[in-house]
Amino acid sequence: MRTNRTFTMLKPDALEKGMIGGILEKINSAGFRIVGMKLTQMSQKDAESFYAVHSNRPFFEGLVAFMTRGPIVAAVLEKENAIEDFRALIGATNPVEAAEGTIRKLFASSMTENAVHGSDSDANAAIETAFHFSERELF
Ligand code: GDP
Repeated sequence: MRTNRTFTMLKPDALEKGMIGGILEKINSAGFRIVGMKLTQMSQKDAESFYAVHSNRPFFEGLVAFMTRGPIVAAVLEKENAIEDFRALIGATNPVEAAEGTIRKLFASSMTENAVHGSDSDANAAIETAFHFSERELF
């Protein structure tokens, strides 16, 4: 089922560098409506569960340490074709490969510390949204 919604996190590196405003400006300018938003911090268990698909990868431990080291902004965004359009807006996982003008090109510093998350499917957007939000926090 297409929902026209995606889930994002502004990652700890983005908050440490004071980039919340700059990233939200790009998101708003690209036509996404903010449906839900919160400042929160993932526990070790949260991050291990959120990134469980990567648990056998060599970067997993570093990824969990990074994602738990400070607060994040979790948000749900709405737009027609939200999943694909948001993935295009954030750019490639590795900022070196991210296209000019994308959020990761502008704000990310490395493959792990890449400033933002964006869901890769409607099914995962729904799972990731439910991980961070209750129904009454979505508008
Ligand atoms: P995304 O969908 O573009 O965020 O990428 P993935 O879902 O494949 O990976 C999740 C997150 O794990 C990425 O955003 C990076 O923070 C990190 N990551 C993924 N692949 C690598 C890798 O090969 N090396 C490192 N160091 N981190 C990675």
